[in-house]
Amino acid sequence: MPSADLHQDLRREVRDLCKAFPDAYWRELDAARAYPDAFVRALTDAGYLAALIPEEYGGSGLGVTEASIILEEVNRSGGNAGACHAQMYTMGTLLRHGSEAQKRAYLPQIASGALRLQAFGVTEPTTGSDTTQLKTTATRKGDRYVIRGQKVWISRAEHSDLLLLVVRTTPIEQVTKRTDGLSVLLVDLRTAVGHGLTIRPIRTMMNHATTELFFDDLDVPADTLVGEEGRGFRYLIDGLNAERILIAAECIGDGRWFVERATRYASGRVVFNRPIGQNQGVQFPIARAHVNVEAADLMRFRAAELFDRGAPCGAEANMAKLLAADASWEAANVAVQTHGGFGFAEEYDIERKFRETRLYQVAPISTNLILAYVAEHVLGLPRSY
Ligand SMILES: Cc1cc2nc3c(=O)[nH]c(=O)nc-3n(C[C@H](O)[C@H](O)[C@H](O)COP(=O)(O)OP(=O)(O)OC[C@H]3O[C@@H](n4cnc5c(N)ncnc54)[C@H](O)[C@@H]3O)c2cc1C
Repeated sequence: MPSADLHQDLRREVRDLCKAFPDAYWRELDAARAYPDAFVRALTDAGYLAALIPEEYGGSGLGVTEASIILEEVNRSGGNAGACHAQMYTMGTLLRHGSEAQKRAYLPQIASGALRLQAFGVTEPTTGSDTTQLKTTATRKGDRYVIRGQKVWISRAEHSDLLLLVVRTTPIEQVTKRTDGLSVLLVDLRTAVGHGLTIRPIRTMMNHATTELFFDDLDVPADTLVGEEGRGFRYLIDGLNAERILIAAECIGDGRWFVERATRYASGRVVFNRPIGQNQGVQFPIARAHVNVEAADLMRFRAAELFDRGAPCGAEANMAKLLAADASWEAANVAVQTHGGFGFAEEYDIERKFRETRLYQVAPISTNLILAYVAEHVLGLPRSY
């Protein structure tokens, strides 16, 4: 089937699935800060979270392009793919760098939904965006690693069986490049919690199931190591491009949802005896938001296409994330403004989605850090940090 038809079918199918999870579903979860278990189960059962897993391991063997369409449609329906998107980009590290034994042990179970790989542990409280300075260590003791340290903002850890964890295995003073000496471990949370790992939830402005992790000599088998010891930073970068493209697509979905809602409201709301959308002061910001969402979408597909061809796509993935996050945030503001007071009412869902899409100015990489990347790596300007 030509890819345009495949994409249209995929959009329609995901949209149909999302109809069973209307605004009220997400609104109630938001109020309770509860995890969308039923939605994640439905998405898993339909095979969508296994989109990137090759068929030989039980997935559908699709590309980042298709995976991004799935997540876009979730957000476009009014939902929030942030509840489960990590399963798509974390498993890429396992797929590309894991041993055959690890892939056979985990990927089919992840594809079937028997195991959830929803947690990705990079950020630390004292190092933030400066990833190479992370201080959580894993020390090799015979056939075990002993993990010590702390992570923050590790989302979905309470709803995941596995955690892809980035640690330092060689002290930074002993490496020539600061990107060396980091490693990736696939930690089984089911046995770790209560035996050296404590998870503490963090309540945030939106419903995101994020947590702090405390590692107090957590002892794990040495075969939890993914790939080679000390090369984890490289593995991380691989996965980050996929993450940026997928989150750009979620922002596109949000942006379209805001534009649709703003358009609908502006057409129906009558003030001064005419629809507010008849005023250029109301319609132009909506039109501009639409233009910017569509422009960002082109960069998202450009980045996805490069990624799926195995071509370098760091610049495009970063630019797609920045443009899409800016476009969705602009559209969110426009939607609130168009709705007047009702933009602030929970029952309209605008304020919920506004809070949700705000995250993408900061996570998984902040706008400033993308600009620093483009300045240094694309334009050749001096490194600023
Ligand atoms: C809800 C939520 C969920 C998250 N989920 C995860 C997760 O699952 N796993 C995970 O590992 N992490 C996660 N994160 C962490 C997220 O990736 C980080 O918050 C983000 O990378 C920014 O790091 P920081 O918060 O430490 O900010 P900092 O690095 O402290 O930066 C603070 C501000 O300073 C700016 N800044 C810093 N340095 C520079 C510089 N050199 N030049 C210009 N500006 C600079 C930044 O742009 C930012 O605006 C999550 C965060 C949130 C809020």
